[in-house]
Amino acid sequence: MAAAEEQGPGLVPRWEVQTDGAGHWMPFDPTSSEAVEAAHELGQEEFSLTARGFAYRVNFKACEQTNTRTGTVRAIRRTLVPRPTHMWEVEADIGWVPFDMVQQEALEAALQRDQKQHEFERSGMGYEVDLAAFEQTNLGTGRVRLIRRSPLPATPAAASTSADPTGGGTASLSLPSSPQAPSWTEQPLGNGAFLLSFDAGDGSLSVVEDLHFTRITAEKDYDPTKLCSLTFEALGDDVVRLPCHTEAIPCYFKRDVITQALLTKNQCPHCGAFLPVPGPQPAGEMKAWLRPDISCDGYFDTGTWCIRYIFPSGRQNKRMLRPGEPYSGTTRSVFLPDCAEGRQALQLLKKAFSLGQLFVVGDSITTSLKNTVVWASIHQKTNLQGGANGHGWPDKGYFERLLSECAAKGIFPDEQEQPAEEATLPTTEPGAEGPKHSSGDDHVDQPLEEARAATTSSMLKKRKRAPTPAEGDVEDAAAAAAAISSPPLLLGASDVGLDLGHQDDEEGGEETGWRVV
Ligand SMILES: [Zn+2]
Repeated sequence: MAAAEEQGPGLVPRWEVQTDGAGHWMPFDPTSSEAVEAAHELGQEEFSLTARGFAYRVNFKACEQTNTRTGTVRAIRRTLVPRPTHMWEVEADIGWVPFDMVQQEALEAALQRDQKQHEFERSGMGYEVDLAAFEQTNLGTGRVRLIRRSPLPATPAAASTSADPTGGGTASLSLPSSPQAPSWTEQPLGNGAFLLSFDAGDGSLSVVEDLHFTRITAEKDYDPTKLCSLTFEALGDDVVRLPCHTEAIPCYFKRDVITQALLTKNQCPHCGAFLPVPGPQPAGEMKAWLRPDISCDGYFDTGTWCIRYIFPSGRQNKRMLRPGEPYSGTTRSVFLPDCAEGRQALQLLKKAFSLGQLFVVGDSITTSLKNTVVWASIHQKTNLQGGANGHGWPDKGYFERLLSECAAKGIFPDEQEQPAEEATLPTTEPGAEGPKHSSGDDHVDQPLEEARAATTSSMLKKRKRAPTPAEGDVEDAAAAAAAISSPPLLLGASDVGLDLGHQDDEEGGEETGWRVV
């Protein structure tokens, strides 16, 4: 939706896909449309787009999109439409998701006409929206869901997330506060559930404002003719002291040099202390909620923490792989058993997400998509079952590996969240997954024996047939239908609309190769 000014007042470009031979066009969801527009503006011939787990290749010359899995080719077009002023969303199990563009416009029009009710059909299901109560009723199942309408910012640049740059709430970590630096907010949802929003900002990092390093004074605090240990140039007069500094191990550096170094690795180059430098994760949301009624395989009678990550498409900031270029978003679901270790793992993932360390923009080995959101070398369980090889449960070595993968990024469990038997961090075995950015691995958990074998084997005694992730993803058929009725990142075509059953079949750890400024 950029460059609207050139298009005439109040008009914005919108991309649409032809859904059938009868000339029906369906608009892309707003974020996908914006990403496609950005690629188009840059004069790219092709663009890779992900929506609800499907990958598409958009070819601007041919004016068509290809579903890379099914091979379905559909015509696309660019139109100009009045700039939307409000966003309509429905509260699905995964959180608030936008209605598709057709319903966005229909709902807004109905409201303007003072209509009390609006009915529509989606994927064979009828729905009725009560515009006074702000509720949607599935006419087939009777399931009622809340809807909401919120104003859109006048400029799309500010639209990426609703994150409050000051952070806050029940936040347990503090992150940089300058407007351009990444930031995050947490919204508690009750019963331990939460919604985290991460705003990537423009990728700037000020070690003084964001990380609170201390500027120190030449001659008084240090010798400016002394050589910098990183560049072997004289320190000069723009020098900062790190919080890890001690008399015994002095840690101060030229400001620009340490800034550059920290964008590559969030550790003091001198003493190795971890520093809370946000990673290059794109803007997105992490929602976690407990499902007492489903179990990870091997955890009989134990509920499951469902975690849903939603990353809209967007434009890469200067810390990402190819700054300025658009990237395609993704949606991922992962699962943790509601046991002491699982809850600790959840806290670790929460911290990693807040610190921008869980995902990056990269090129996916699995899907061969370029410029897309991929895992950032912290493995997660995308299936309830299937064991280590199926990126699911049970997997007795998983918690140990998660701890060491997080530790490699400076993310540690809070003391009080540690399970009793987990007083110290496990050490990674030689030959096991290295703690470094060991990307390009096989996406398969490598079995690490020992430690929790006893615990796990007792859990393995009884197994209950856990629902498949597709089932686990939604509460019931009605919920599934409602979710289908309002897919958040839907690309028009019906083959996407029915994609609820699709699950990512790989665990995290794709090659990433994010770049630093
Ligand atoms: Zn240090």
